[in-house]
Amino acid sequence: MQYSGIIFNKQVLELFEAEIRKFGLKETGGVLLGATKKDIVHVKKASDGGPKAIHRREYFRADPDYIDMFLEMELANSAENIKYLGEWHSHPQKIPKPSYKDISSLLEIASSHNNFALLVIIGAIDFNTEEIYRQSCSLVSETGNKFYELE
Ligand SMILES: [Zn+2]
Repeated sequence: MQYSGIIFNKQVLELFEAEIRKFGLKETGGVLLGATKKDIVHVKKASDGGPKAIHRREYFRADPDYIDMFLEMELANSAENIKYLGEWHSHPQKIPKPSYKDISSLLEIASSHNNFALLVIIGAIDFNTEEIYRQSCSLVSETGNKFYELE
């Protein structure tokens, strides 16, 4: 199975926008929940990083306790068919490019989540939700050491 596209719910784009407005060129991020249908990855919910997240110009780390709590609550309470998809974070770039570390963390997440992980990187410079497909880079890893970019 190879996925070819990605769609984001409006509330997910609004969260990206609000977080980037709050943190500017310091990186921010969180986790992504949603579903896969045919060859499309559908992102339905996103979290912020939590109160103890670390936000720096080229570094972001989410608050692990907050993320655990968010996932537990969302996965237990959601009537929708949603699952953990992966993570997102912003870069101080207009058109984001994944770093070597981003790729290795994507592969690591996939290996601990049934060989599927999504990493969405958002370009924080002049971010505009209408330009989401140009100003984001969505990578999927499904098996072992492979990954590819979604349109
Ligand atoms: Zn990154």
